[in-house]
Amino acid sequence: MNTQVLPATAPEAAATAAEIIKNGGLVAIPTETVYGLGANGLDPEAVAKIFAAKGRPQDNPLILHICGAEQIEEYCHHIPQAAYDLAQRFWPGPLTMVLPAKSCVPKCTTAGLPTVAVRCPDSTVTREIIRLSGVPIAAPSANISGKPSTTTAQHVLHDHNGKIPLIVDGGASRVGVESTIVDLSEERPRLLRPGGITPEQLKEVLGDLIVDKAVTAEVAKGETPKAPGMKYRHYAPQCPLVIVSGSREKAAMYIRNLYQPGDRVLCFDEELPLYHGCDPLSYGQEADLESLSAGLFSALRELDDPKIHQVYARCPEGEGIAFAIQNRLRKAAAFHIVDAEEVLPPLCKGRCPEGAEGL
Ligand code: AMP
Ligand code: MG
Repeated sequence: MNTQVLPATAPEAAATAAEIIKNGGLVAIPTETVYGLGANGLDPEAVAKIFAAKGRPQDNPLILHICGAEQIEEYCHHIPQAAYDLAQRFWPGPLTMVLPAKSCVPKCTTAGLPTVAVRCPDSTVTREIIRLSGVPIAAPSANISGKPSTTTAQHVLHDHNGKIPLIVDGGASRVGVESTIVDLSEERPRLLRPGGITPEQLKEVLGDLIVDKAVTAEVAKGETPKAPGMKYRHYAPQCPLVIVSGSREKAAMYIRNLYQPGDRVLCFDEELPLYHGCDPLSYGQEADLESLSAGLFSALRELDDPKIHQVYARCPEGEGIAFAIQNRLRKAAAFHIVDAEEVLPPLCKGRCPEGAEGL
């Protein structure tokens, strides 16, 4: 199959994409979070093609992309006022809501759950594709399962060239990390995945918000988190990745001491001079967190290279979008974090912890 890449600005882009969706095919669509691999979310055969193309585990449900709050009622019931309030404030935008599903939503879309995830993306062409298709578009991130998400049309082409008929190229995704997911199907709202809409912003509307434990801690073997996708190894390059926390200087001392040719350092623009000779790769400015979220997956994909042995990564501290970046990097690191402040002198006088010798 020839994979066509059409710019979102091409006059025929939306109609061509909608025709494929209506005929049960797959289209890669741009959104402000990441690129999605879309199909008719009400057609089990079309949805099965998404799972097959991505190699996605069947128990990981998909998000339904819709045109606006007025469509929530078509696919969900028992909708609390909070859902309308959130939609009013944050849609179109990087917020997904989990609500009780109506029976028109097939089991393969919800992975058999009684709930369905819905979102209205902030991409004019993608909303136009949904509108012209006349169906909600089920779309997970377009990457092959387990790999870093796709934030450009080129990333999608890399993963699916020859396997899907069309990629709509809307340029680099602005937010760069997947949508915030909030579960409104229970009594108290619960954050299932952090993203471009921050917990602080959600609390302004909801007042109350529980942060699901799978957001910050590793999911134990055999446990199924509320967002089933959170249990899978995600976002990771092929080689081990370790997050090195602590001050710039201490982290650089720690990393430089361990660095071997073939390793890479994933850091901020501001830190590049500290890693001269260590093949550093910056994913944005620490002083501009949006630049980090926008650059993270491109950088992780560049590091997904069999020639690289080890990645040392720096992660922003704090709240807001930093919380979403921490979540993605911790998962990429399989929660392997070293605090350079703890392992470096003067704390290692006497018995030096592994890696701190000779500093
Ligand atoms: P992706 O689109 O690849 O970012 O994956 C969608 C994410 O949404 C996965 O982590 C899913 O587990 C989560 N998700 C989708 N539907 C539901 C649902 N009904 N309940 C909880 N989480 C969901
Ligand atoms: Mg994904």
